[in-house]
Amino acid sequence: MNNTENASGKETKVNLPTPVQIRAHLDEYVIGQDDAKRVLAVAVYNHYKRVLLGSDVEIGKSNIMMIGPTGSGKTYIVSTLAKMLGVPFAMADATTLVGSMHPAKEIENILATLIQNANLDTKQAERGIIYIDEIDKVAKRYAPHGEGIQQALLKIIEKTIAAVPIAGQVYQVDTGNILFIVGGAFVGLDTLVQLRTSGSAIVIQEGESEKLLKNLAVEDIAKYGLIPEFVGRLPVIVTLEGLNIQALSDILTKPKNALITQYKKMFELDNVELVFDEESIQKIAEKAVKLKTGARGLRTILEGYMRDIMYKVPSEQNLHKVIISKDVIAGEEDAVFEYNVTIEEEELLPLVPKAMRGKTAES
Ligand code: ADP
Repeated sequence: MNNTENASGKETKVNLPTPVQIRAHLDEYVIGQDDAKRVLAVAVYNHYKRVLLGSDVEIGKSNIMMIGPTGSGKTYIVSTLAKMLGVPFAMADATTLVGSMHPAKEIENILATLIQNANLDTKQAERGIIYIDEIDKVAKRYAPHGEGIQQALLKIIEKTIAAVPIAGQVYQVDTGNILFIVGGAFVGLDTLVQLRTSGSAIVIQEGESEKLLKNLAVEDIAKYGLIPEFVGRLPVIVTLEGLNIQALSDILTKPKNALITQYKKMFELDNVELVFDEESIQKIAEKAVKLKTGARGLRTILEGYMRDIMYKVPSEQNLHKVIISKDVIAGEEDAVFEYNVTIEEEELLPLVPKAMRGKTAES
């Protein structure tokens, strides 16, 4: 996002992507979460339009609350957005506020991170994005002193001139144009929606939670333990879905910087082709679903398999291909290592049965 100022201080050139462009960019990286991507594209566009163009009419800030399970992409969407817009970005975890003796100091630290990420340029920091994760943990149901923390957060989310000390120097920042996005899993919020809409609470089946949250009302979040003034400052509420096997398989292979693509690239640097067959991808996704940590589990699972292989590959002579099948993921077989044959071996090759021509990682 670019803008320049003329002598009168007015913006003369604004290059703000449209919601459709923002959404298209998110699509390159983020699988599924269509609602969230659309709503965020519009909210972010409106926010920066308000900041960059100014207006005679006072337009309220569109701070955002994202509700969705762990590893569904909340943080990822926000950081992708910040990168795309080229605005400073800071991330914080609300659990550190809850555990701290001095939550006000922690809040100040969030602003300090933003200023540092803006290379100490407070003007840039003032139009940055702050993402606060695990916001549900400041709800009164989890934190008896949560209300005080919410009040303190409210101040910076709304607008305040904060004096932030960094390395012995104090930086003044006006938080009025900083976009605040908060996120949390809000476990149990679906039950509150169910209670309000149907009058009773029955066991919520898999996949039902998303449907219930579509009818989410501000009063449900208030019941959960966030004070109405706080929720009132987060007018855009968006829910994200839990990722199923298909979505997790797609995450492994489809985004621009997909995990499998990253591993393939690393192997390419050693002139080795890395192949995951389709069933192996499905199997990894199935394992991630069981872990219940969303897409976060994918990296953990993959690292587990790749560690040994990555240890061996760089010192193997003539290796040209590594193949990972579903049996490797099931722990029943080793990865297949395929080698280029040398001229002498080529002469012997017709004598070796076809089935024995590939070698395993252990051979
Ligand atoms: P959350 O904030 O919802 O707990 P994250 O955004 O931290 O989850 O997700 C963890 C990682 O999983 C991300 O860094 C990203 O690599 C991957 N990921 C999560 N959701 C998606 C998605 N919908 N599309 C692509 N990658 C995703």
